[in-house]
Amino acid sequence: MEATVRLSRPVLQLTLALVKPDAVAHPLILQAIHQKILENDFIIVTNRDLTWSREASQTFYSQHSGRFFYQRLVEFMSSGPLRAYILAHEDAIRHWRKIMGPTQVCRARYTAPHTIRGSYGLTDTRNSTHGSDCPESASRELATFFPEFSEGAWAASGHSRGDFLY
Ligand code: UDP
Repeated sequence: MEATVRLSRPVLQLTLALVKPDAVAHPLILQAIHQKILENDFIIVTNRDLTWSREASQTFYSQHSGRFFYQRLVEFMSSGPLRAYILAHEDAIRHWRKIMGPTQVCRARYTAPHTIRGSYGLTDTRNSTHGSDCPESASRELATFFPEFSEGAWAASGHSRGDFLY
């Protein structure tokens, strides 16, 4: 009798990960974050370095306009270079947000010291990384940073975890 071995091919989700200006400014921190992405088994679909205009920063964070930190956030995010990644993983959005850690730096330091924000965050605003918070945001954010990238074409091309492990 012939045995058939089926390897399951988990569905990969995409997320946008940003390294913010406080972390890009320090090559060792940028390198450590890159390493963390690799150690946590993400596939780096692509990445890009860029600097935002004030207007791009305002638009990206428009959902926070009116909040006490909005102006500070907009200034900070357009103050220096950013690195944007498209990351793929099973449940990528949740996985990346767990690795980033809590938004508030004190909370990150004391409750999740080994996360990126717990290790490298400087303040509640200068907290090293961003990650999409739901699939709809991820699609919108990927299109903002990588307008030439097609999620549909990527999925149709049959990428899956199996392609990388076996
Ligand atoms: N932020 C801030 N002060 C706050 C809360 C948020 O400066 O009290 C900034 C911080 O840089 C954060 C970003 O605004 O990453 C977006 O806030 P959000 O609540 O969406 O947090 P995130 O999803 O980034 O953890």
